Amino acid sequence: MAMIRYWSYREFYAQHREHILAAVDRVFTSGRLILGPEVESLERAFASFCGAPYAIGVNSGTDALVLSLRALGIGLGDEVITVANTAVPTVAAIRLTGAVPVFVDVEEDSYLMDVTQVAAKLTARTRAVVPVHLCGHAVDMAPLITLGETRELCVVEDCAQACGARYHGRPVGSFGAAAAFSFYPTKVLGAFGDGGMVVTSTPAIAERVRRLRFYGLDDQGHAEEEGINSRLDEVQAAILRVRLEHLDEAVRRRQQIAQIYREGLDGVGDIGLPAMREECVHSFYIFTVRTAHRDRLMRFLRDEAIETKINYPLPVHLMRGYAFLGLGPGDLPVTERLAKSILSLPLYPELPIDDAARVVAMIRRFFGHT
Ligand SMILES: *Cc1c(COP(=O)(O)O)cnc(C)c1O
Repeated sequence: MAMIRYWSYREFYAQHREHILAAVDRVFTSGRLILGPEVESLERAFASFCGAPYAIGVNSGTDALVLSLRALGIGLGDEVITVANTAVPTVAAIRLTGAVPVFVDVEEDSYLMDVTQVAAKLTARTRAVVPVHLCGHAVDMAPLITLGETRELCVVEDCAQACGARYHGRPVGSFGAAAAFSFYPTKVLGAFGDGGMVVTSTPAIAERVRRLRFYGLDDQGHAEEEGINSRLDEVQAAILRVRLEHLDEAVRRRQQIAQIYREGLDGVGDIGLPAMREECVHSFYIFTVRTAHRDRLMRFLRDEAIETKINYPLPVHLMRGYAFLGLGPGDLPVTERLAKSILSLPLYPELPIDDAARVVAMIRRFFGHT
């Protein structure tokens, strides 16, 4: 029995090899390797995909968050509210600006930021909120936008996992003052290397991110302010343009596989399925189930040649690298409970339907269903 992998890009490459190699060749023969026409073209296409006027290509999703926050003036000593049930880079990016992350817990059913907890965490130093659209499911943005307006807070969306997701019919990334996307290979829109994008509707923020990604230089090559090197290269941009052409289809496939999991696992054992808000279109970067038998189920599936993953086994506030924040067990009870029971199933657009069906069948068998 061939291994059912959690994720793979090889099928996509096999299907689109000619197209990808032609894009790479176009760059190599063009004489332009960094911040050229491919990046510009990707930026235009991606902005339009997100329904926002500006998109700025950067080196990674982490940098997209850092530069979004910095372009909004967030820095040393400021407080930024986010969640600990996220990938480490959300928190790392806040720290890279010099700001302090302040965590709220997540909702039990959606695993997403509990926006009702944000108001209680506001202090005189709070400058921004970073909602994370985890797994491809949008955070409830309306109350956050209202809170942001009344309390003068910037909302920066962490869209790293949510390319293609929608909230009230609009693409994620078009709600906050700025939004950060990651093109890490596993992501919904994945490069063949690193990449990221900042999306915004405000020209001044777009301009500042553009400057910050290139040493803070102005037109004369003088540093207008302290910037960094966070350029997107032409090869990745050219490959991402190919990927973007197939993105709608890829998201549809993800949704189709998620539907197979939902239908096949509904009511099986103590399996908890991820909540889906009616006003959201879920892009299913990750499909996570919950069960009290998580570790045993994971081993059982591994023995059946099915690879699964835990996103994430240890909440960020309990990691040694963030001990200086002074938080510990019991501070974010829902986040901590989730970490012990969540399991993510194989999911990528080219995953064969038969394989998804086999994953369902094996989980049903584990729980004694036929
Ligand atoms: C992947 C990811 C990032 C960071 O993206 P990189 O491109 O790896 O820097 C940030 N936030 C979340 C939620 C992510 O999943």
